[in-house]
Amino acid sequence: MATDPLAPFRLDPASSAILLDVDGTLAPIVDHPDLSAVLPATLEVIERLVERYGLVACVSGRAAVDAARLVPVAGVRFVGNHGLELLEDDVLHHAPGVEEWLPTVASAARAIAPIAAEVGAWVEDKGATLSVHLREAPDPTRAHEVLVTRAVPLITAAGLGWRWGRMTLEARPPLEQDKGTAVQHLLAEHPTIVRSLYAGDDQTDLDAFAVVDVAIAVASDEAPAALGSAAVLTVDGPPGLARLLESLANSG
Ligand SMILES: [Mg+2]
Repeated sequence: MATDPLAPFRLDPASSAILLDVDGTLAPIVDHPDLSAVLPATLEVIERLVERYGLVACVSGRAAVDAARLVPVAGVRFVGNHGLELLEDDVLHHAPGVEEWLPTVASAARAIAPIAAEVGAWVEDKGATLSVHLREAPDPTRAHEVLVTRAVPLITAAGLGWRWGRMTLEARPPLEQDKGTAVQHLLAEHPTIVRSLYAGDDQTDLDAFAVVDVAIAVASDEAPAALGSAAVLTVDGPPGLARLLESLANSG
């Protein structure tokens, strides 16, 4: 039988880090992000993880404050906006270089809003980044085409980078920081941590997969092809991850 990659975590939780994406990982995907919720049973498991493990953090594409609203558990660290924000003791810190881009992100969000509205999509200005949400568009294929031909050029002209997520177009400052660098930063702040795992469901999670010991893919119909092959373990959606976290909380 193959060695269980989670066994060292269970044996030595105080020196282990548990790093978790939020949407599609802890919270099932819903039509509108305002309707998302983490199951109460999962929140209770996260509470127990915080008591035992050296570091528990949520690393989200949401604004950090919004991620903290969804996971209201004391002791959890929050990284937001795909690594561009860190919430420390309720104080929001931007990654280096982000602040000068905030007006550009805001003006790009305003410019794209009417284009998105034409196809039933909508723009979320998250401060450091913006997301165009396509999940509620009546014709997502057409919405995708219109965004590629009209919104992406605006994003590029503003000097921002972009990429596709699960039914979203994400635009962000052209900075090197991502979920991977944010995880490295968190781990560097916790020198007693000797092993880390990261669970995620989407494209931007791959950056974090690359810098942890155990990458866990949260499978879905919309998962990028690279997700499963980059992971050590694959679980079946947020319920599958909840079971895995439960097994980590019950260790020892
Ligand atoms: Mg996600």
